[in-house]
Amino acid sequence: MSFEKLGLEARLLGAVAAEGYTAPTPIQAQAIPVILAGRDVMGGAQTGTGKTAAFALPILQLLGKGEKGRLPRALILTPTRELAAQVAESFRAYGRQTPLRTAVIYGGVGINPQIEQLRRGIDILVATPGRLLDHAGQGTLNLSNVEILVLDEADRMLDMGFIPDIRRIFKLLPAKRQNLLFSATYSNEIKTLADGLLHNPELIEVARRNTAAETVTHVVHPVGHTRKRELLSHLIKGGNWNRVLVFTRTKHGANRLTTQLISDGVSAAAIHGNKSQSARTRALDDFKNGAVRTLVATDIAARGIDIDSLPHVVNYELPNVPEDYVHRIGRTGRAGASGSAVSLVCAEERELLTNIQKVLQHKIQVEIIAGFEHDSAAMTKPAPAPNQFGRRQDNGVKKSFGSRPSGKPARPQGGRGCQRNK
Ligand code: AMP
Repeated sequence: MSFEKLGLEARLLGAVAAEGYTAPTPIQAQAIPVILAGRDVMGGAQTGTGKTAAFALPILQLLGKGEKGRLPRALILTPTRELAAQVAESFRAYGRQTPLRTAVIYGGVGINPQIEQLRRGIDILVATPGRLLDHAGQGTLNLSNVEILVLDEADRMLDMGFIPDIRRIFKLLPAKRQNLLFSATYSNEIKTLADGLLHNPELIEVARRNTAAETVTHVVHPVGHTRKRELLSHLIKGGNWNRVLVFTRTKHGANRLTTQLISDGVSAAAIHGNKSQSARTRALDDFKNGAVRTLVATDIAARGIDIDSLPHVVNYELPNVPEDYVHRIGRTGRAGASGSAVSLVCAEERELLTNIQKVLQHKIQVEIIAGFEHDSAAMTKPAPAPNQFGRRQDNGVKKSFGSRPSGKPARPQGGRGCQRNK
């Protein structure tokens, strides 16, 4: 399959070649002709499948020639600022040889430059819902010319509580338009949203729900919670990892780990919701251009981060929600590139690991690192049976893993020590 066969015009083929793409990904091969034909699409595809180009290329072609002083004709809604910025970047890159203009608007930054940009006229608007409604409310945005609407990562929008905002935005759009919805998962709520939005859509699904990219190797390194940071520095330095995305559960944990890595001689930056937008953008840029080798992120901040060639993702702490594991490692092994997903797992996290393996439908290989054998013993030995008081017989401390006397699920925070990195 080649891009030429999909019906794309020469200037877009030139842009695709300039990006170094030699063949369309499965979602591109299926979606591009359907979108060019003007049909609605329900796309089941997660980040990393090439879904952005799958909608951006045909939209650029459908919009044809841009005209100065235009109101937006394509609107792309995304759940996060990072994803909005990346989608806009993709439109600009693929549309380099067209006169079409793309603007991106999201919260957390000044509204005036956005107003100015809208006033000058644009063809494609990429936005997060809240800021879009701010503009619409104060009359600085007119959506009455929108011909194509894209909901990107609709499942994430739902998780983040954006659906009421999105429904309000629908009311600002002309009734007759082409609608494209992309989502990594198909819940009943997504189906309800799609039923109300899409007309006779073409259903395109390229990755099964909750399957992680097959090009990613997964490995678990057992380690005591107090030695995680030591092991991480050892892996990064020993393996000469120059670009590694590390996930922590909390913003505070991300800051602390970043400071510690720097004191270990490993350059690092943190990205999370407490950082200003400019600090987040700077951290991401430094990471992309190689100025820092380690980016430490929380789940929310990392959503939609698109980094070409990200060979290593590390779960410094396992996520509480197993599906987040899939989202995290979706950052590596993109578009067929190989990647490694390394999880540093302490004894208190065994139950979280079990749940993740259930979602993946396979066990993750355990690899013991020399010097950390003692830690591994604690991690791999069976959980001691609780006595009648629900206390462990080995040390008298009730832990949040293993069989639980109450039959209740374990505390989700994974035990006190797992969060601490000394
Ligand atoms: P996305 O799923 O849209 O976030 O894209 C994931 C990554 O795949 C991005 O870094 C794109 O630049 C890259 N990509 C998209 N399409 C292709 C393609 N046809 N060949 C190679 N890489 C691609």
